[in-house]
Amino acid sequence: MKLQRNEKCPCGSGRKYKKCCYPDLGKRAEILRSVSLANNWEELVQLVAKPMEIYQLKVVLIRMGFQEIEEEVSRTFGLEGKHTLYDFHMDIQGAFDWDNDHMFSFYITDKLSDRENEYSANPLGEHLVSGFATPSKSAATAQIRDLGLTEDTKFIYLFDYGDKLVHEVTVEKISVKSQTAKKFPTIINESGTPPPQYGQFEYDKEETKYTTKTS
Ligand SMILES: [Zn+2]
Repeated sequence: MKLQRNEKCPCGSGRKYKKCCYPDLGKRAEILRSVSLANNWEELVQLVAKPMEIYQLKVVLIRMGFQEIEEEVSRTFGLEGKHTLYDFHMDIQGAFDWDNDHMFSFYITDKLSDRENEYSANPLGEHLVSGFATPSKSAATAQIRDLGLTEDTKFIYLFDYGDKLVHEVTVEKISVKSQTAKKFPTIINESGTPPPQYGQFEYDKEETKYTTKTS
């Protein structure tokens, strides 16, 4: 399908596309995506009218290098389907207080290092493909809604291939965005304080948090 700027806008406003959704970069991106998926005008109108899905994703830190995380450290996010895995990476970095100073991969599978289902990028969102085996896919272009996620799907987020911060992600809920919804992405829930990113740490029962090991 092709959509000319002079045609009426598929959002149903009755105005011309070029004077309606075209000038708004966000709306235009959504319409171009729908154009690429639709076979005819009716399908296009339906796709454009479809409300955005909201994904509730719980991220649990399970291991840092050789150290297991026994006391729960987790953050739960609300993301829109159009957000990318790179957006999600940046949200996790902020919420866990990591330094975004290394490469990362999402494995949309329960197996760590499953190259077939790997989406990666560097801290700037650039996708660097190495020459080995199955190349990974780009985390910056992969949108959450295109990953085939369903409720209860689990997948893995690995940050820093050297120090190996391993996080398990669970899709807790997929719902439809309401008209009055707040801004996304958002943090829905927080539990525990993340350990320091570098060095050995231990759990301090009095302070109920992980602290850098002193001895
Ligand atoms: Zn429009």
